[in-house]
Amino acid sequence: MIIAEQKPFERIVEMTAKARNILVAGCGTCVTVCLAGGAKEVAVVASKLRLAAQNAGRKITVTEATIERQCENEFVEKLAPALKGVDTVVSLACGIGVQFLAEAFQNLPILPGVNTRFLGAPSKQGTWQEKCMACGDCRLDKTAGVCPMARCSKNLLNGPCGGSANGKCEVNPQKIECAWQLIIDRMEKLGRLDELEAITPPNDWSTAHDGGVRETASEQAVPAKTEAMKSV
Ligand code: SF4
Ligand code: SF4
Repeated sequence: MIIAEQKPFERIVEMTAKARNILVAGCGTCVTVCLAGGAKEVAVVASKLRLAAQNAGRKITVTEATIERQCENEFVEKLAPALKGVDTVVSLACGIGVQFLAEAFQNLPILPGVNTRFLGAPSKQGTWQEKCMACGDCRLDKTAGVCPMARCSKNLLNGPCGGSANGKCEVNPQKIECAWQLIIDRMEKLGRLDELEAITPPNDWSTAHDGGVRETASEQAVPAKTEAMKSV
């Protein structure tokens, strides 16, 4: 899932300095799970904005709405009624959700309330760790399901560097496991250790970011922008 974290609150105050009627919009999917932008975080940010405005002697209205996903039209259209009279939206969705709202509601400033960090999963309660950098050419079959690109600090494709010790990465032995140690351990368990003797060629980054905006087409129809969204 997409992992995000809340922006420093001072940045949100700064971005909304001229706003009078703010909607704080949450997203019920990834950012809810990683505790950055679900209904609870929306309520907290909205309360803090009201308090900050009160302390600054500014009169503002702050409303709240959380939809299931900010990156799909069928859910985004449900936000339209909540936008009546609103002059600024603070979206607590990931960068995709923010851009989706900006495209759907062109007459409104849509401000990012979170920083989108990476594609990851929980490593322990309350902590999320990067697992994939969306390289566009997944090779997890060759590395026993552990991604060396996202999880090795040096993105090494052919075994560990000299800084691997006791299963830890030299970049931060307290926190980071050596991805290559994980790969070796797992390949050994699967009885495939000998496969690691083959040299992996340099990665083909043409499937990643280098060719401009990436796109994947599906045969299934995608719902178009609805009338409710066009009217905002
Ligand atoms: S090989 Fe590429 S697509 Fe597969 S997990 Fe790693 S970064 Fe993601
Ligand atoms: S110690 Fe392991 S994870 Fe860290 S850079 Fe070296 S090979 Fe990669």
